[in-house]
Parts: sequence; C-alpha cells; structure tokens
Amino acid sequence: MVIKDAYKLCTDALGKTDGRILFEGVTNYTFKDVLTHGEKETDIDFNPYIKRVLGGEPIQYVLGETEFMSLKFKVTPAVLIPRQDTETLVEWAIKKIDKNARVLDLCTGSGCIAISVKKYTHAFVTALDISEDALKIAEQNASLNNADITFIKGDAHTFDELENLDFVLSNPPYIESEVVSGLDKKVKDFEPRIALDGGKDGLDFYTDIAKNSRKMLKNGGFLAVEIGYNQAEAVSDIFNKVFGNSTVLKDLCGNNRVVYSKKQVD
Ligand code: GLN
Repeated sequence: MVIKDAYKLCTDALGKTDGRILFEGVTNYTFKDVLTHGEKETDIDFNPYIKRVLGGEPIQYVLGETEFMSLKFKVTPAVLIPRQDTETLVEWAIKKIDKNARVLDLCTGSGCIAISVKKYTHAFVTALDISEDALKIAEQNASLNNADITFIKGDAHTFDELENLDFVLSNPPYIESEVVSGLDKKVKDFEPRIALDGGKDGLDFYTDIAKNSRKMLKNGGFLAVEIGYNQAEAVSDIFNKVFGNSTVLKDLCGNNRVVYSKKQVD
C-alpha cells in the first residue's frame, strides 16, 4: 500500500487526531511525508493496530511509546501513561534544581519525572517504585534517554533510607478508590490500578510521604507532589502539619495540581 492510502485508512477508522498519531507512530513517516511523498510504499498491516484502538486501548500502549517533556518514553500497561498534568510539577522542579542537587522521585512508574529532571538539570537522581514491572520499564526509559539514575524497589509509605536530599518529588496514586471504577474505560480497563488508587479519600500516600521526606530532606530542601484537582486543601493541611508551610501551583488548565513545602528548621 502507498502511504497516502495508509494515512487515509488510519484517519477514516480513527478520526483525524488519533488516525494521524497512529500512522505517524507506526510508520515513522510524518503527515508532511504523506503530502510530499504520498506514493511511497509501506508493507505495514495497520488493521491490528486500528482494531486495538477501536477496542478502547489507549493509543500510547498500542504504539508502546509516548512523549513527555519533549522526551520519548516507552509505556506498557505496567505503568501509567505520562500525563501533561505532570509537566507542571516537573517544570517547577527543573527551575529550582541545579546540577549538584540530590533528588528523589517516589512512585516513579515510567520514570518520566525522574528522567526529565535528570535530562534538564543533570542533578543526582534516585527513583523508587514498589512494582518490579514498572521499574523494568523505568530502567529501559532511563537508558533510552541516556539518563543515569539509581533505581530502588521500595514502598513510598515507608521508605526513609536516604538523607541530605535537596528535593523529594512524587506523583503518587491519588484517585479515590470508589472513583477509580468510574473512570473512563481507557483508563480503568488498561492502566494499572496500583498507580491510580489512593485509598478511600485518595490521600493515602501524602501523610507518609510528607513525614518520610521531612526526615530525608536537608534543611532548606523541598517536597513537591502532584495532587488531584480537588485535593489542594487536604494536602496543604497535611503538609502544613508536617512542614509548617505549603504552596499550591495550578496546571495549564487552571486546576490546582501541585503542592510543595520547604523544610525549615532553625
Ligand atoms: N492524573 C491521573 C489521572 O487523572 C492520576 C494520576 C495519579 O493518580 N497519580 O488519571
């Protein structure tokens, strides 16, 4: 088949946006190539890919990759697909972090936070996850991006084994258990529940992460976490109790998305 027909096959089946993403992801041709070299041959069979997308599977899993902070990440159902929401936390972090800083990323999943912080700051980065399958993907993403990161298997509820850190970052699971089953089919049927479910009130991780981080941070260090759009008050309360201060940041849609605290002891 020639690529302009392949492009049409994808967009007819999936619409302009998804069709184009699938075509470009599967072929490594761009839409521009379709316009300029439409008669080029491809022997790829697009139908199995189209079938999976029509079956509700997120296109990122079908392609096995996605983009975050302009970097490429491999994704499988062992890890949450990196969200643009999370760039709010990363963009705040890379503005503040310099190359001598020691950074820990809790609940790293695909490694998207740890790896983009490493790439854009050259700091010393350690990343933790409880899922061995997620860690395997995160490690592959680190080598894919040439990022030197130390990975640790561990539980963010209890991990407090590092010291003198400058930054602890985390996008922990924060969806209320009852809400998880009501999420979009794409999310609930394909993405890992362990990466989404934050317990009854969605706040399970924040108290433990705050206490453990306070122990691991050096004086003047920061804890910064992603939150659900409706959790700013609850997470600020938790952080205020542990650190005596907290600040909320909004994402590009204007939703509260990040809470951070500074460790200050006299
Ligand atoms: N933002 C993700 C979602 O809405 C959830 C991420 C998380 O629980 N940490 O699907």
